[in-house]
Amino acid sequence: MLACVSSATLTGALGQSVSVEVHVSNGLPGFTIVGLPDAAVRESRDRVRAALLSSGLPWPLRRVTVNLAPSGVRKGGAGLDLAVAVGVLVATGQLPPDCTSSLAFCGELGLNGSLRHVPGMIALADATAPLELVVPLCDAREASLVRGDAAHGVSSLAELAQILRARDEWPAIPPAPPGPPAPELPDLADVRGQPFARHALEVAAAGRHHLLMVGPPGSGKTMLAERLPGLLPPLTPEESLTVTRVHSAAGRPLPDGVLVSHPPFRAPHHSASLVALVGGGSWSLRPGEISLATHGVLFLDEMGEFPVAALEALRQPLEEGVIRVSRAGGTVAFPAQFLLAAAMNPCPCGEGVFDGACRCTDADRARYTRRLSAPLLDRFDLVVPLARPEPDDLLADVPGESTAVSAARVAAARGRAAARDGAGAADPPLQTKAAALLAAKLRQGVLTARGLHKVARVARTVADLVGAEQVDEEHISDALCLRTVRDVVTR
Ligand SMILES: [Zn+2]
Repeated sequence: MLACVSSATLTGALGQSVSVEVHVSNGLPGFTIVGLPDAAVRESRDRVRAALLSSGLPWPLRRVTVNLAPSGVRKGGAGLDLAVAVGVLVATGQLPPDCTSSLAFCGELGLNGSLRHVPGMIALADATAPLELVVPLCDAREASLVRGDAAHGVSSLAELAQILRARDEWPAIPPAPPGPPAPELPDLADVRGQPFARHALEVAAAGRHHLLMVGPPGSGKTMLAERLPGLLPPLTPEESLTVTRVHSAAGRPLPDGVLVSHPPFRAPHHSASLVALVGGGSWSLRPGEISLATHGVLFLDEMGEFPVAALEALRQPLEEGVIRVSRAGGTVAFPAQFLLAAAMNPCPCGEGVFDGACRCTDADRARYTRRLSAPLLDRFDLVVPLARPEPDDLLADVPGESTAVSAARVAAARGRAAARDGAGAADPPLQTKAAALLAAKLRQGVLTARGLHKVARVARTVADLVGAEQVDEEHISDALCLRTVRDVVTR
């Protein structure tokens, strides 16, 4: 007898609907699974068999063939277990054939018949619409984020069989368990001195400008970058769902209440593999650090130490807001829209040319900066020098301005920019003196045409931060200061 049960599998951060066909026939007892299964799917045979027996449901001593359609799509992970088990129950007459027609099933089975968590539940729930979806109880809240009342949770195979047989009510989805309290975001008040770097952080957050900090060890680059997410506004509901979808597909623990509501901060180490950064790896193609940072901050500490391939992989997401990973089965696009913050030492010894204590040869320095390609460096609107804080600043026990005060200015500046965009108004023209200053820099060869455009954009953000209608000379000078060190890095 044949049964056909709906389910879904995860490809990248997207779900793909899968039809699980189970055929039970006379012949030598055996179990075959076809349709491009990966190792975890092939092993479902042992889990499904043990789960049925543990649940008091007989396993057919006949030939069982499972086909996963469409056959051209690779299926990974253990999330198809539940659909295979339900298919066996229907095909052997243990469940009525029509009880599954309006339902889809996603869940991993334990040997004792319990249902276990499956990563990427939001994407899987999307892919099974408009069918009602049955998932492990622990995943039901996540599935209900996108499917509402059409998502149901059960805790075991025996419970599911009972509900389907008797057409019982679905159990209520439990409220989210009280998770750990939200981690305290580090506060800018902890940073002593560094007024220029603080200003750069604020401009970066307000205008979504990518930021590169150049300074010797101990100048507080990491400390400053960690405080950047605190300056960003909370995620919009749409952004929140995108971020949650990616984190769920990567198998990351989701916060209390399930939705990720704060901009993420990801700081991959320079020794991280390319797969860990861009995503991919297994057949199910997991999102990498670059995607996990979407709508948040991607921080590359010691950018000069990252392999060239990793840095080059950043170019596509910086241009398009997505990262594409190609595999034999096709190409998967992950969202990758992030604010890039990077830090580097000015030279291999770290002391740099600012302090004059550098022990590097010119060749050393050239080798160090050569791996940063001009197109990548060009993505940074803000390139700022950092010095070690002054001893007086460190000893004075005066806290710096707090994140809350700075974040309020960022929110106001973003509000001004959004109001302009919303009204469809072009940016107001530069003041005459400001335009003259830019023209002079262009003539002197200090700025390229492309650089000119960037300086004007940063100046617009600076003006928004102070609530100025027009961009004046002072805003342009400020924007020029926020990229002066570029020449030191690229020379
Ligand atoms: Zn040096």
